[in-house]
Amino acid sequence: MTPKEVLAQIRQREVTTVDLRFMDFPGVWQHFSIPADALTEETFEEGIGFDGSSVVGWRAINEADLLVVPQPETALVDPFTAQPTLTMICNIHDPITHQDYTRDPRNIARKAVAYMRSTGIADHCLLTPELEFFVFDDVRFDQRSNEGFYHLDSVEGAWNRGRVERPNLGYKPGSGLGYFPCPPTDSLLNLRSEMAQRMAECGIATSAHFHEVATGGQCEIDLDSQSLIESADQVMMARYIIRNVASRAGKSATFMPKPLFGDNGSGMHTHLSLWKDDEPLLAGHGYAGMSDLGLYAIGGLLKHAHALCAFANPTTNSYKRLIEGFEAPTKISYSRRNRAAIIRIPVSGASPRSRRIEYRCPDGAANPYLLFSAMLMAVLDGVQNKIRPGDPLDKDIYDLQPEELAKVPTTPRTLDASLDALRADHEFLLRGDVFTPDVIDTWIWYKQALEIEAVRSRPHPYEFTLYYDV
Ligand code: GLU
Ligand code: MG
Ligand code: MG
Repeated sequence: MTPKEVLAQIRQREVTTVDLRFMDFPGVWQHFSIPADALTEETFEEGIGFDGSSVVGWRAINEADLLVVPQPETALVDPFTAQPTLTMICNIHDPITHQDYTRDPRNIARKAVAYMRSTGIADHCLLTPELEFFVFDDVRFDQRSNEGFYHLDSVEGAWNRGRVERPNLGYKPGSGLGYFPCPPTDSLLNLRSEMAQRMAECGIATSAHFHEVATGGQCEIDLDSQSLIESADQVMMARYIIRNVASRAGKSATFMPKPLFGDNGSGMHTHLSLWKDDEPLLAGHGYAGMSDLGLYAIGGLLKHAHALCAFANPTTNSYKRLIEGFEAPTKISYSRRNRAAIIRIPVSGASPRSRRIEYRCPDGAANPYLLFSAMLMAVLDGVQNKIRPGDPLDKDIYDLQPEELAKVPTTPRTLDASLDALRADHEFLLRGDVFTPDVIDTWIWYKQALEIEAVRSRPHPYEFTLYYDV
């Protein structure tokens, strides 16, 4: 859509309100609204000012102003508002430098795509995210109702799939048994169908939705492949729709990576493929139907695996998911079928056009613009430097001898460790000015000061179990 077409749609659909959205630094959608008649063709050029100092991770108080510049191709009518409301995703412009703002995640993503094209390697990168999330009964979900959080006997939950929690589950699937009995055991079919329908109305195509493995409440909705920025935009709109449909039904949806102890966490596995002149660059005759370029792309993701976790798994809670026994990846390796490896090469489609890399680390706390950009930069580094990925991990990790297993490196155990890795390994992200040193430093500072320290300094509920009576 052009600005003119957006304005015409506002008239046709009798829109009263224009809602302007943008991505903040940590990964939360922000917004403010203007009356529809305040939007003119000039707004698309000049933007609208707002106080950048109140947005986490952005400008200091003495240099606060920033501009939102609405992007007409993202315009759509919001499915939830009482007043007809047109939403648009915005880029952020710095009125002092007259440039796109360097800490705007969407700007970083645009630069990543431009850099990919400038290398001549590919002209197109397709991303396919799988959204996993929990739906809990009540917006005031109380951690104390998660009994595993408190009781030591649930430590065994991981190794005790299908354990019956109590008699008379009343259709509630047991721990690890949510995948995928029909209703009424799957009590969320209607809710997910409504989410997918709202997404379709907003131009977001989905390929499947189902109940996931964890006990009653874990869902997955898979989005179709899109180019990098469009895919990140769609992830944000899809999260918005999922939360709002749940909220209207008196429930709450969370993308928190590991809300329940002793059961599966939620990931955001992301499939990636590279294209040039409409030819699929990953397809070839090597392992799992990959080309040399495809294997180098995997090499890049493996080489930078630790640093990438700082964007793929950006919360302290993310590392409670990345442990053995819950289908989350822990092994820095690749495989056609082994789900413990951080990279899987799905072979479901025989066509070379379906050849892709499934990167399994990410979780739903990730800022998709930063995540997809960092993934692409690692992939490009692999291709440019012909980084070989080593041997695939084709045995089930439980069949490997302990000595063999110990040789396979694992994902970082804490957010601290991922940030250390990013501090040591980010040169590949700076190419083409995609991530600036300021962005890397601010990300590390923000995560350390506002999240790691905040969690570290608080008594943990489980410490009461362990230590109250010492
Ligand atoms: N929920 C699992 C995870 O944390 C993934 C399950 C699956 O393979 O889809 O990554
Ligand atoms: Mg899944
Ligand atoms: Mg998957």
